[in-house]
Amino acid sequence: MYSRTQNENGSYNTRCLDCLMTIASCIDCERDLDFLEFRHICPEKALAALLEMEKAEARAARN
Ligand SMILES: [Zn+2]
Repeated sequence: MYSRTQNENGSYNTRCLDCLMTIASCIDCERDLDFLEFRHICPEKALAALLEMEKAEARAARN
């Protein structure tokens, strides 16, 4: 989930809606935006995945 905004000069900014981090600003081409968004490693998602993993391990340990 990313929020893209356009600057007055026509370039783009993109922000991750999960961690609210600005991933890139003043990007001219939408293809570059796709790439930068794809490359973003979201700390929020990584944390959520880690917590899920710990929960799964705790469940496994109980059984
Ligand atoms: Zn993010």
